[in-house]
Amino acid sequence: MKKTGLWLVMALFLSCSPQPGTPPYDLVISRVNLIDGTGSPLRAGVSIGVRDGRIAVIQKGELTARKTIDGSGKFLIPGLFDGHVHTTDYRADFPRFVHYGVTSVFITGGSRCSNDLYAAMREMGDQDSIPAPRVFHTSQHFTLEGRHPVKTYPSPNWVDGETVFFLKDTSQIEVLVDQVAAYPIAGIKLTIEDGPAPPIVERMPQVFINKIVREAARHGLPVFAHASDNTEFLMAVRGGVRHLVHYVGIDLDWEDPEHLAAVDTIKAREGSWVTTLVLDKSFLYPLHPEWLASAGLNELYPVEALKAMLTPERVAQAREIEQFWRSEYGFEVVTPENIFAFQVDDVKKLYERGINMVLGTDVGNDFIFPGYSIHEEMAILAQGGMAPPDIIKMATLNGARMVEADSLLGSIEVGKMADLVLLKANPLDDIGNTQTIQTVIKNGVVQR
Ligand SMILES: [Zn+2]
Repeated sequence: MKKTGLWLVMALFLSCSPQPGTPPYDLVISRVNLIDGTGSPLRAGVSIGVRDGRIAVIQKGELTARKTIDGSGKFLIPGLFDGHVHTTDYRADFPRFVHYGVTSVFITGGSRCSNDLYAAMREMGDQDSIPAPRVFHTSQHFTLEGRHPVKTYPSPNWVDGETVFFLKDTSQIEVLVDQVAAYPIAGIKLTIEDGPAPPIVERMPQVFINKIVREAARHGLPVFAHASDNTEFLMAVRGGVRHLVHYVGIDLDWEDPEHLAAVDTIKAREGSWVTTLVLDKSFLYPLHPEWLASAGLNELYPVEALKAMLTPERVAQAREIEQFWRSEYGFEVVTPENIFAFQVDDVKKLYERGINMVLGTDVGNDFIFPGYSIHEEMAILAQGGMAPPDIIKMATLNGARMVEADSLLGSIEVGKMADLVLLKANPLDDIGNTQTIQTVIKNGVVQR
């Protein structure tokens, strides 16, 4: 009996062991401090084994692998997710995202976003030999002629039917939604906004919003709305919109039952709300040339080239916006602190109320830098009093949840894709430590 038992144990041992000479994991990060992105407390000294691009095991103790990265004294977070991106030159921008730890981006339309360009971006995101983030995207913008964003950002690249849809009446919507639903989109992008600055255009009429949401629902597609004030936010919610791509411009009144009911409706729809607070910082950049000399920024963006962007026109524009904020909000002096304080307070309340808050930057605007600006967004939230574990969750898992990829992405859990960022210092002590990047891994492959 004893002998049979021993053989059984040996047989089990042999069947669980890899072939002699074949390490069981492709990559191991050993003895690391794990911040998994779910908001769980840090786990010290664990090893993460990666096989076939997936996280195969997380455990205490050593693991054998073809390649081992010593994680002792270091901190591992999930790859970052920028939840609001435009790019006119993705081949240049994509490696920049990865350099700063961004392994997924959500592209919410843009003047060049034809079906062919989207396909090319997805293709670059799907491979892992050239650094590039995974690409998720919406449809092209649904808007009306002469309105935002085409009037605000004029360009010959906006072509009706290719990179934008100008709706003439609601009867077209059914066919257009059928058309975009044939592509791998995360949802329909619609622009309600009346423009961020004069000339203010007209908003999308409510009947158009309602119809787009209804037609999208036939395909099981959510709608992502661009709303940038309280009126547009309420229009979006009334129309059945699920996700909002900006918080900037909205100033919720927490005493107003209509606002609270709208927030709870978004929650009931399992909707997401993207922050993009750094957009307001970008408007102030020309008045703060000292920001251009930040060491993190200058890793990829040389200070001299950035200074060349400070044209008299840009400085004058920034002064106008500063003046507008002074009169709009009653600030004596416009500082990043007073501009962000009430917005971060709202983001925090929304997060605590259970809305899936997602970090996003709105890359594509001047002074928003692919990759680097997600760290600026995190710093703004931390300065406003948000806790680092919550900020990290908003910058990782919540983004994946917004595009319904959270069963595969966004956190460091067994079975998920191995998109990982190894940091030299603890981001829970100081969120600025998300910039102390040693290694970026996408799909189990070292990218930086
Ligand atoms: Zn945008």
